Amino acid sequence: MSARRLSARWVLPIETPPVERGAVLLGPDGRIAAVGPDAYVPRPAGVPAEDFGSALLLPGLINTHTHLELTGMAGAPPEADFASWIRGVRAAKALLPADRFLVAARQGLADCWAAGVTTVADTGDSGAVAQALAEADGSGVAYQEVFGPHPDQWDESLRGLQRRVESLSPYARGRVRLGVSPHAPYTVSGRLYQATAEWARSEDLPLAVHVAESPAESALLARGSGAFAIAWRGRGIPMPEPLGRSPIQWLDEHGVLSPRTICIHVVQARGLDIGRLANAGAAVAHCPRSNRAHGHGDAPLAALLAARVRVGVGTDSVVSVGELDLLAEARAARALAGLDAGRALGLCTRDAARALGLDAEIGGLRAGKWGDCTVIRLPPDRGVAAPEELALSSSPRDVVATYVGGRDVYRNSRPL
Ligand SMILES: [Zn+2]
Repeated sequence: MSARRLSARWVLPIETPPVERGAVLLGPDGRIAAVGPDAYVPRPAGVPAEDFGSALLLPGLINTHTHLELTGMAGAPPEADFASWIRGVRAAKALLPADRFLVAARQGLADCWAAGVTTVADTGDSGAVAQALAEADGSGVAYQEVFGPHPDQWDESLRGLQRRVESLSPYARGRVRLGVSPHAPYTVSGRLYQATAEWARSEDLPLAVHVAESPAESALLARGSGAFAIAWRGRGIPMPEPLGRSPIQWLDEHGVLSPRTICIHVVQARGLDIGRLANAGAAVAHCPRSNRAHGHGDAPLAALLAARVRVGVGTDSVVSVGELDLLAEARAARALAGLDAGRALGLCTRDAARALGLDAEIGGLRAGKWGDCTVIRLPPDRGVAAPEELALSSSPRDVVATYVGGRDVYRNSRPL
């Protein structure tokens, strides 16, 4: 790791106002040593300096929900019936050789860096993303999934999860953290939720849960009806007890919601559920393009933000959305909740860091935080727009360079 100094037409620290003709000094420890107007940021002797001209420099983006082990599996758009779609994804995964997931995870991480994303919160069951992050000195949380819809399976499923987390523990080094993900209310029994949440608490592991995503999930918990209920009955799985719960309420009653929990999707949630999330201090990974692609509807983003629930945006997997484009998610969130550009950018930087409990380390350009940043090419004829608007309107193809902990991890060879 070596120190370097980067400058550009615009520097967006996010936590403080944009700086025209700004610079960032990255220290030899991989953390930010100084940020501000170019004229005031030190130029230590022997430290290489690079000026990105008319480009814009901002903190590395933070994707609060990915499935990088599915990289390369993008194909036809998701089918309308969510229950059969998710069965299809799991069946397709089961046919793949185990080493395929590591290849996918490595490519997925490289794709993230190429799109300016420097930290991921990833759920998967292969363990490949933890390994890919560790071997590349990346930054992220790898949530190990656990499944088990039959209440009698809970102890076997929990033991399996504990073994997997133990075997992945060598990868929990540097900036790689392990977590657990009891997958979703239609694949996990109440008892398994409870047991997993208790164990995660005792081990201080963060949790990620897909919840309140589809109407079929709500129908299963409310009335024991719908596509998931039919599938459960077909497999001899008893209905959730007691019925009449919303998905968020179900998790709350099983001890799953806490400040260490990130709830993914949260579309089928209103009033009381939003209060439950706020009271528990749980965070939300908002995935607007995935929610739309599956026809689940729109999440109550404005109400979540008004209730001061911590929210970051996430892409979900390539199988749901095709290309991962976190700024497109921020634009969709903006349109959904009527946010200004700065607030929308916050959802993939500062607020995403808060949602993951990492805001002391990442999410903004400030001395002491990790030297995670990305440089975006700006079109020459748009000099009049606010820099937040310019950043927000860019695409992964506009990313010029990406740094993780001060390390150059991506460089676009196209000239500026
Ligand atoms: Zn997901």
